Amino acid sequence: MSGEYMITGVADYEPYVGAQTIERLIKKAKALQDLHVVHVNSTYYGGGVAELLSSMTLLLNNLGIKTGWRIIFGPPDFFRITKGMHNAIQGGDINLSDYGKKLYEIIVYENSIRMRLDHDIVVIHDPQPLPLINHYRKKGPWIWRCHVDLSNPNRELWDYLKTFIEKYDAVIVSIKEYAQQLKTPQLFFMPAIDPFATKNRDLGEEILNERLKRYDIPTDLPLVVQISRFDRWKDPEGVIKAFNIARREVDCTLVLLGNVATDDPEGQEVFESMLEYQDERIIIRSVEDAALVNALQRRAAVVLQKSIREGFGLTVTEAMWKGTPVIGGKVGGIPSQIQDGVNGFLVTSIEEAADRIVRLLKDEDLRQRMGREARETVRKNFLLIRLVEQYLDLFSSFEP
Ligand code: UDP
Repeated sequence: MSGEYMITGVADYEPYVGAQTIERLIKKAKALQDLHVVHVNSTYYGGGVAELLSSMTLLLNNLGIKTGWRIIFGPPDFFRITKGMHNAIQGGDINLSDYGKKLYEIIVYENSIRMRLDHDIVVIHDPQPLPLINHYRKKGPWIWRCHVDLSNPNRELWDYLKTFIEKYDAVIVSIKEYAQQLKTPQLFFMPAIDPFATKNRDLGEEILNERLKRYDIPTDLPLVVQISRFDRWKDPEGVIKAFNIARREVDCTLVLLGNVATDDPEGQEVFESMLEYQDERIIIRSVEDAALVNALQRRAAVVLQKSIREGFGLTVTEAMWKGTPVIGGKVGGIPSQIQDGVNGFLVTSIEEAADRIVRLLKDEDLRQRMGREARETVRKNFLLIRLVEQYLDLFSSFEP
């Protein structure tokens, strides 16, 4: 850690990735010194994009790339429209009226008036700020980074969004399966985690215990945990059903921890609809607390991520890094992380999820073996340093 405030520097990654990688990165960054880059999304917290940006922007600055982070603002109506778009990109229906489109475009235009974007490179994340590109004279390349599960986007919506997307110089999506027919070149960058963040570093037993106690999480029985924004695509009801089947065979406690992102107007309603399922062994909490996430992922016997759609699933990566076996839905980016039966399980139904919970809870050796494999998978593939290198390579490919 560098300096008295413990900001992570690239050198801190050496124990995980070796000195050569660090040297290579520093060399690549030197060639780009003083490049001025900005990332724009629509929330500072809640969800994987904010998580990623908060660490990645610091690490890029540490490497000498001047990297800023801005967010766009809007009234609830705007976020209702963009959440509808998010759902439709993931395959849901949408009835996007001309009024809705107009409102979306006007709010983004208003944001463009407030926000100076005269950087060498601009990276726009997800659909909310996508139309910003219409309102600036480009100084350098503009990149659109889409984090959403694109396996089956609603065509009508996609065709509308394409009118903005194709103005960009490059599009980044998480995995090859998400490639679309576009004039714009597409790149594939899987997200990654910051192992030094409060959410991921080893906080020590005392803090972990205190955190679980503070939120009344019982630890007398093995913990089955899912941590996700309250969102139907994360299938919280399916998790409860799977747990109810599993608990007939093994004693355990389920913890559903979620938060509500500022750009997700449906979250509160989903959270409230889940509360009826609470009982002595089904614990549901909605709080924003990175240390609690850390404690639950470390203390869980099993982590679930039973999504129906999942752009990538940083919660999977985070739990795997802590050596906890994950049972994930076989959708979106999850199979890029979990190799079924090796470093976790992939499932396609509630019954399969229940079966894997029971298998893992009954077999400590299996949990340990999968946990070790899981951590190694993340060390090799999903630490932030790899993603930062991909961005550096992309930036230098634009150099004149
Ligand atoms: N998260 C959190 N608290 C919660 C729920 C989620 O801090 O109660 C974090 C989680 O640890 C992860 C991110 O939000 O870093 C979720 O990212 P993911 O890619 O799993 O899903 P997304 O929300 O982007 O769809």
